[in-house]
Order: sequence, then structure tokens, then C-alpha cells
Amino acid sequence: MRKILVAGNWKMHGSQAMVQELLEGLLEGTKEASNVDMAVFPPFPYLAQACSLLDGSDIAWGAQYMNPVAQGAHTGEVSAGMLLDFGCRYVLAGHSERRSIYGESDADVAEQFEAALAAGLVPVLCVGETLEERESGSTEAVVERQLDAVLNRCGVSGFKQAVVAYEPVWAIGTGKTASPEQAQDVHAFIRDKFASQDDIIAGQLRILYGGSVNGSNAADLFAREDIDGGLVGGASLKVGDFLAIRNAIA
Ligand code: PEP
Repeated sequence: MRKILVAGNWKMHGSQAMVQELLEGLLEGTKEASNVDMAVFPPFPYLAQACSLLDGSDIAWGAQYMNPVAQGAHTGEVSAGMLLDFGCRYVLAGHSERRSIYGESDADVAEQFEAALAAGLVPVLCVGETLEERESGSTEAVVERQLDAVLNRCGVSGFKQAVVAYEPVWAIGTGKTASPEQAQDVHAFIRDKFASQDDIIAGQLRILYGGSVNGSNAADLFAREDIDGGLVGGASLKVGDFLAIRNAIA
């Protein structure tokens, strides 16, 4: 049976007290083995705390962003090596907020993806269309362009150790979830694209859905053939809400 991945992107939320309460609650609520892998993505200052609270558990942790440069005069930035030092397993690449607010281009995202892989992190490549792009019928073209930027740089073999998250921008933080059918259609499109280059990598690739996932819609989404889990924002900030997503499928 496939193992679903439920990943919590905390965005710019947190305090030491919140991190402690949330992670202790998740540890308590995930004692029994299940077919769900869990991961959390706290802001940088809380990675050390996550590392010490989650060490030895089945819950992984990752970062929301990294700079592809290894080290040097880059004030304010964080490298893959620093994340590994804190036991990170995953790093997001190309979250829509990084693309839209911080101007990260497809080429920037591909560079981050390549540097993460080279360092031994698992990049989670985020792709997805805006509402305008969906309404103009260009969803597949947009997703394909975002995937091609990475495929052209790293090849399909770069996805042996990577995750893809399909996150329609219009569904992130809006309460408007893509229907299971809409999500499945794009996930199948993504998997077919990889299958045209390598059947085995395509079959093993985890493709997460993100965009207003909650305890009520998770089971329907994750039951679809090509939806291998979720990238969860708002609902990952409360123990009960995040566990409800896990338990919807566990
Ligand atoms: C996200 O931050 O990637 C996300 C999907 O957020 P939300 O679940 O709040 O829509």
C-alpha cells in the first residue's frame, strides 16, 4: 500500500511555546503506526527546537526555503548545509508565496532544487496555476512550464529523491479547495509527464495536493489514484486540525 505524506507548512507563524505545544501534541497523537508519513516545516528560528523535540520520532522536519549558494556574503540567507546541520530532511522549492511575493522565477526555483538535491535534502517542488490561468485554460501549460524548468536542469533522475506538490494558487489559504476531480486531473497530468521520461520514477514519485486541505476534505482527496498526500498550511497550525487530516486516511 502506498504511504501518504502529510506535510505542514507553518509559513511565518510560531513562537517557542507554540512549537512545543504543537509538536508534543503531534508526537502524542501519532504514537500508533500508520500508513501516513508526517513532516513539519517551521520558520528557521524554530528548526533547532523542532530538531530536539522530534529527534528519534517518525515525524520529519524541513525548511520553507533555502538559498542555493553554499555560504558567503549573503546577509539574511540560509544554505542547504545549515539546514542539514539541524537534521532537516525536506526543503520547499518554489512555494507560490515565494514566487509571487519574493519574485522567485522558474530558473531560481530550479537552482534551489538542484542545490538541495546535491546537498542530500529532499526538495518539495511546488507548482500550480493562478485563478486567471485556470480560467483561461492554461493550467497544464503553467504546471508544465514550472516542471520543465527543473527537469531541464536536473533531468528526470532528479525526481528519484524529490516530492512534487500541486498547489493551485487560488486554493491556498482561501478555503476554496480544488475538487478531488480537479486535483486528480492535474496530478495525473504531472505523473504522465514523468512517465513519458521514466515509468519507474513516475510510479514512485509522491505528488502532494495543497490548497485548503482540512479534516473534512482530506480523505476524498487522498483517495484519488494520483494524490499521494497533502501540503497543508493553515490546518497544520493546530494539533487537532492537523491530526484530523492524518487520521482521515491513517
Ligand atoms: C500552503 O501553505 O502551502 C497551503 C496549502 O496553505 P493552506 O493549506 O492554508 O491553503
